[in-house]
Amino acid sequence: MAKKNPLIRPLVHDLHAYVPGEQPKIKGLIKLNTNENPYPPSPKVQAAVKAAVDDRLRLYPNPTAEKLRAKLAKLHGCKPENIIIGNGSDEALALAVRAFVEPKQGAKNKAQATVQYFTPSYSLYPVLADTHGAAKNAVPLKADFGLPSVAELKRGKKWNFNAALTLVTTPNAPSGRGYKTSELEKRCRAQKGVIILDEAYVDFANENALKIAFKFPHVLVARTFSKAYSLCFQRVGYFVGNEELIAALDKIRDSYNVNGLGQIAAEATLDDLKFYRANFKKIIATRGWLARELTKIGFRVLPSQTNFILAKPPLFPAKDWLQKLREQKVLVRWFSAPDVNEYLRITIGTPAEAAALAGAARKILSLAD
Ligand SMILES: *Cc1c(COP(=O)(O)O)cnc(C)c1O
Repeated sequence: MAKKNPLIRPLVHDLHAYVPGEQPKIKGLIKLNTNENPYPPSPKVQAAVKAAVDDRLRLYPNPTAEKLRAKLAKLHGCKPENIIIGNGSDEALALAVRAFVEPKQGAKNKAQATVQYFTPSYSLYPVLADTHGAAKNAVPLKADFGLPSVAELKRGKKWNFNAALTLVTTPNAPSGRGYKTSELEKRCRAQKGVIILDEAYVDFANENALKIAFKFPHVLVARTFSKAYSLCFQRVGYFVGNEELIAALDKIRDSYNVNGLGQIAAEATLDDLKFYRANFKKIIATRGWLARELTKIGFRVLPSQTNFILAKPPLFPAKDWLQKLREQKVLVRWFSAPDVNEYLRITIGTPAEAAALAGAARKILSLAD
């Protein structure tokens, strides 16, 4: 490791930053690696953003994203005070770690300083814990990526029912597995600290867990406009839940954390939900098609309730498949973590992109014969 620069905090020096999926500059590459939506935002959203590019750019945006919160409150049947907007849900997650978790130094007990999550799940969670100097408690999901029951968590002795903050990706990423609201509710009921149900992919699932956030004072639901609403570029995400928890997060956020064009884009999105619901249907249909095609040629495809699939490829290690597909101009994602390194995570693109992926996979297999 490089010599430590004394100007930098040791914690930061030693930190492993989050590794985002590649945003390649190669022309003609089919990009199925970061779970972006293959369909552009609605024409009305694009028009609203364009129309807002005028003299207003010199002004600060609304500091509390007031209009957007009002629209979301109406959509979810709650008050604006139950909602906080973040510069992407990533920012909101970072705020939650800062608001609810003590750094290890200065904590009275381990639980107070603990960020807890299942593995595999969103690889940002450990980075957020490390950045804050918090303790991490990573507890494995079951072999089929199902949630351990409360009894199993107790028996396993690793789970901390008092952890200051527990983050649950539901549906799970990177496995794509969905969880029933009833099973999530049982886990939440048994938990003392704050739980965030990270529903980044929930629009592609059968169920959402919003009602749990309204039922319990210690449960928040995280949502984002990035994946389902084709707005990764604009960085808008939010939490829904208990007013006091939301107010605590609100205290520590930057004054103008959500940029003005992002607010406008998200508001216009909520005015055109029909457009997006049609896209969800298309993506879910393509997901089914791709799973069947890949299964035919020897992939083991896990059931998915998201806009991606996790699939174990035949013949070669998954890491080699990543390279071979890239040579065929298709980019997918591979994670080195031992619980998923035999799989590829493939974002559901348009039908043409999915067909190109299936075609590339067939070609790779035929060349190997
Ligand atoms: C993409 C993703 C997010 C972050 O979304 P942004 O709103 O773009 O920050 C959060 N959680 C999970 C599980 C994700 O996959």
